[in-house]
Amino acid sequence: MKPFHVGVVGAGQLGRMLALAGYPLGIRCTFLDRSAMAPAAQVAPILTGDLEDASRLAELAACSDVVTFDWENIAGEALAPLEKLTRVRPPRAALEVSQDRLSEKALFSKLRIPVAAHAAIDSREELVRATRKLGLPGILKTRRLGYDGKGQFVLRGLGQIDEAWAAIGGSGLIYEKFQEFSRELSIVGARSAAGQTVFYPLSANSHGGGILRHSIAPFVSPGLERTARTYLKRVMNALAYVGVLTIEFFVVKDRLVANEMAPRVHNSGHWTIEGCVTSQFENHLRAICDLPLGSTRALGHTAMINFLGTMPARERLLAIDGLAFHDYGKEPRPGRKLGHCTILKSRARERNLALADALKLIRCI
Ligand code: AMP
Repeated sequence: MKPFHVGVVGAGQLGRMLALAGYPLGIRCTFLDRSAMAPAAQVAPILTGDLEDASRLAELAACSDVVTFDWENIAGEALAPLEKLTRVRPPRAALEVSQDRLSEKALFSKLRIPVAAHAAIDSREELVRATRKLGLPGILKTRRLGYDGKGQFVLRGLGQIDEAWAAIGGSGLIYEKFQEFSRELSIVGARSAAGQTVFYPLSANSHGGGILRHSIAPFVSPGLERTARTYLKRVMNALAYVGVLTIEFFVVKDRLVANEMAPRVHNSGHWTIEGCVTSQFENHLRAICDLPLGSTRALGHTAMINFLGTMPARERLLAIDGLAFHDYGKEPRPGRKLGHCTILKSRARERNLALADALKLIRCI
């Protein structure tokens, strides 16, 4: 069997897990990244260079049957020329929409998907006006390049306007009404070029300081799951999407309010590696390589915990029955996602107990 070649722009942990999922299927990933030591470069070939370097991107396209990305902030103009050389999946339009919080919210609204009340902010005066119109508390965010809580300021009173403006003020911002949510949920799904769709069970996500700490899945709520699937499918169809797509939601008074989407595999879907028949990584590859999509059936009850800033000692965590350990091969840095673990149990109660044990171990390491 001739291997199928996938070019991946960006060689972070998402790319690494894609490459590892590809080998059993005869899919070989080649990466483009600035660093030859990037997580995916440790498990697959890499071209080194800037992610938006035209000649490096062309080189990647030349050796690939399809090009995808593990980082969604690559400029659309940099990817456009590749469409003449090979297939680019997910489509560039999805990437461009998700790069700007305002256009993302405009798309959700157009598709009748609820979003937080918000306003575009390009000056301090506009911020003052928005806080009066939409009320407080609210969050001032950069429209572009914000992730894991970066580029955000929570405004609780008018007295904080100067502080917020000093922290992230400028043009290209958005002010969002603060959502008093009971939970944060996400849904991950995949769509093929022929329009076949599959959806994973909901994941319930706990964030701290804007960064995902841990998730549990499946989060069982048939009503919310039906709605989340409907919303995700609307976005997929509107964008003629191919690959894995994620939407993150707030649950406010039992209703889903969309926060953002990611046109790629997602941290809140890492549990699917051990927790489902087919992982999100395999389904992304299957979708972009025109292979049938795999079953998203959950195999039990899982918890996923991110390792942030420091790697915990393997020995004690691995003593937990049903725990799988993932080290991304990254240099430790405060707050950096260095790895994760997933616990798979047959009952939710056992999963919750094991999650508590693992969190205790991780926090005291
Ligand atoms: P984001 O970068 O938009 O995903 O935000 C990171 C985290 O900040 C979210 O997962 C929430 O925990 C919190 N957050 C963001 N926007 C809001 C909002 N409008 N209301 C309440 N919390 C929010």
